[in-house]
Amino acid sequence: MSTKKRNWKPQTALVHAGTLRSQFGETSEAMYLTQGYVYETAQAAEARFKGEEPGFIYSRYANPTVDMFEKRMCALEGAEDARATASGMAAVTAALLCSVKAGDHIVAARALFGSCRWVVETLAPRYGIEATLVDGTDIANWEKAVRPNTKLFFLESPTNPTLEVVDIAAVASLANSIGARLVVDNVFATPLQQKPLQLGAHIVVYSATKHIDGQGRCLGGVILSDKKWIDENLHDYFRHTGPSLSPFNAWTLLKGLETLPLRVRQQTESAGKIADFLAEQPQIARVIYPGRADHPQAAIVKKQMSGGSTLICLDVKGGKQAAFALQNALDIVLISNNLGDAKSLITHPATTTHKNLTDEARAELGIGPGTLRLSVGLEDTDDLLKDIAQALKAK
Ligand SMILES: *Cc1c(COP(=O)(O)O)cnc(C)c1O
Repeated sequence: MSTKKRNWKPQTALVHAGTLRSQFGETSEAMYLTQGYVYETAQAAEARFKGEEPGFIYSRYANPTVDMFEKRMCALEGAEDARATASGMAAVTAALLCSVKAGDHIVAARALFGSCRWVVETLAPRYGIEATLVDGTDIANWEKAVRPNTKLFFLESPTNPTLEVVDIAAVASLANSIGARLVVDNVFATPLQQKPLQLGAHIVVYSATKHIDGQGRCLGGVILSDKKWIDENLHDYFRHTGPSLSPFNAWTLLKGLETLPLRVRQQTESAGKIADFLAEQPQIARVIYPGRADHPQAAIVKKQMSGGSTLICLDVKGGKQAAFALQNALDIVLISNNLGDAKSLITHPATTTHKNLTDEARAELGIGPGTLRLSVGLEDTDDLLKDIAQALKAK
């Protein structure tokens, strides 16, 4: 085991950082499928519970395989500490609930992953935490929404599904000016293409289910922040409410991290080519892709992201019927609401991920009846382009 801080580049950290090697010297990370841990003596148990001796106590608190995943994520993100969770939603919920209490106020960008929006808009108010949802693309809207009791800002960038981009540094600076914290859900950008902590965010959350696994196998999540916030705000909540990640899933995600840069690079390269192709097709009304010069917030993309995206948002002319026909005519690209997968996936937000919103709320977010979200996978780019071209003709 080595906990020494090294000056590794991300691709090296993702293969080696955080490894806890057992006495057997295994090459691949060991999977510690255990609930509990035994102590040599009663005195050792007492010392461990007192925190006088390092070691594991119970896997709801910590587990060696999960610990490796957390340490590797810290190395990638440049965070002091992390806690891994059973899903992305467990991470978001913990990050929000541990940042506010009854009487506090949250300001969030309205373009949020559906379940995140439910937590902010429906769950939080049940416990006396008020929330205001704003169009996050204009910093003036955040400023206007601030109240004396605003304690937390929450955003996702790029957003799901319309790939809007929020100026993270500007929101972080507003948060600092009023003593509030900023939580960024960085799923769509991936930890490789955007570094919210460097931009001033206080807490970063991921659904590891997406690009970090990237192969459709398991759910997971992670919360990253400074050690003080985790010790003082998250630690007890985490131990006592039990959103912990299973060691098996942590192991799967560790394997995912090893290939994350290769996959994200390939998927982003393909997505860029597909976005350019789609933008030229007469059947397509609009393409939104953070890597293109015609993205509505291209200047902010350039400022805070180091790559485009593995996702593309497109509007098909002819509304729902045309969007459905295009999806049904695709051969390689599968119809699924997941994203970041090795397999290319397409979804119609208005009837799936965003079906619970009113027509008005969907329109505010730019989700129309012809809107589709394409998550570009690892297939050969030319095969994907051919598949999309034949589907556009066939529909
Ligand atoms: C998928 C997703 C989540 C939720 O993650 P799960 O692992 O499905 O619980 C949260 N935020 C964003 C942006 C997502 O894409």
